[in-house]
Amino acid sequence: MQETKKRQIAILGSTGSIGTQALDVIAAHSDLFEARVLTANNRVEELIQQARRFVPAAVVIANDAHYEYLRDALADLPIQVYAGPDALCEVAQGGEVDMVLTAMVGFAGLAPTIAAIKARKPIALANKETMVVAGELVNALCHEYQVPIVPVDSEHSAIFQSLMGESSPIEKIILTASGGPFRTFTPAQLADVTPQQALHHPNWDMGAKITIDSATMMNKGFEVIEAKWLFGVSPEKIQVVVHPQSVVHSAVQFEDGAVKAQLGVPDMRVPIQLAFSFPTRLSSNFERLDWWQMPHLTFEAPDPDRFRCLALAYESLRCGGNMPCIVNAANEIVNRAFLEGRCRFLQMAEVIGQTMEKAQFIKEPTYEDYVATDADARRIAADILTHTS
Ligand code: NAD
Ligand code: MG
Repeated sequence: MQETKKRQIAILGSTGSIGTQALDVIAAHSDLFEARVLTANNRVEELIQQARRFVPAAVVIANDAHYEYLRDALADLPIQVYAGPDALCEVAQGGEVDMVLTAMVGFAGLAPTIAAIKARKPIALANKETMVVAGELVNALCHEYQVPIVPVDSEHSAIFQSLMGESSPIEKIILTASGGPFRTFTPAQLADVTPQQALHHPNWDMGAKITIDSATMMNKGFEVIEAKWLFGVSPEKIQVVVHPQSVVHSAVQFEDGAVKAQLGVPDMRVPIQLAFSFPTRLSSNFERLDWWQMPHLTFEAPDPDRFRCLALAYESLRCGGNMPCIVNAANEIVNRAFLEGRCRFLQMAEVIGQTMEKAQFIKEPTYEDYVATDADARRIAADILTHTS
């Protein structure tokens, strides 16, 4: 990469699991990368610490109740301080920004991602909900504004890496899944699992929302949708394979039967670093695969009966339109409710399924339709939850 100008990176959601690992990558390659923008939702103390260390040009706290505290804490530094969701969109468009890492959670990632695309900023995409909700619209905008998306999600990065140098058609995508902490649980056991159990993911240390989504396998359903839009393949060509060791991060099968996969120790810094440096690879001191200590690699079929959220995600993809947006919104409601002890584990899929039936279906949604659908489906899901608990 050229020495002259450091790549200026805006991290939306810098205090989270992906955001802090992205800052590790930037710190390790401070000759190449600079954190231009840092943002958080509520974790103001962490944001202050990060800002004092990395001295970005701007910080945003989405929850504006923290604005004055943040501004005062950074008053001695040349850092612009903003608050509120609109400010997230503005900083993502900033003139000096070379790349936007979308590392915030949920539907809230959609607006700033679209703003960044319209300002022609390359996207390092961690916020998969954006593609789940509005993959078609985002793709159309990327096409219109000629903006690349580099995936950060480990499976999609593996697929992306398997496709490097290939121009031949994809026969099939093999999307691996750890199966989460309840992979071997019976339906009776699943009925009683607690948030504490669900938060204990066997292979990855991630934010709470995605960890719960991994336990229900909604995360894998979302990743099928994400893969469809990122790689232009139909859902029948995406095969979910449960691989509990998370060593094979995903694979692509081509028309001659050849399969290319990307393997490694589970470490999100690898795909984050590649997204920042693409098309180059940089060195790292991350842990290497040890072939003599390797666990036995096993592969099994997912069970959509026990993990109904996976089946619902596929169904939403078949319906198309705003249905994945409805599923995402309902899922955000039940995910939070489960974490707070207001919803049982198996009830999450029930509420999502009922919301899919009740929310208004729109075949060809606009951006405004997605925003309205999100609000509507959240209200419906919350309503179902209060009447069935
Ligand atoms: P996290 O909860 O650890 O962090 C989320 C970050 O976003 C925090 O900085 C938080 O302050 C900010 N944020 C949350 N809600 C916001 C809102 N409404 N407005 C503005 N900012 C908000 O989450 P995470 O695990 O880092 O995941 C981030 C995204 O990356 C998610 O979409 C997730 O699906 C995806 N992802 C994460 C991992 C992982 O290993 N953690 C892997 C693959 C994909
Ligand atoms: Mg993933």
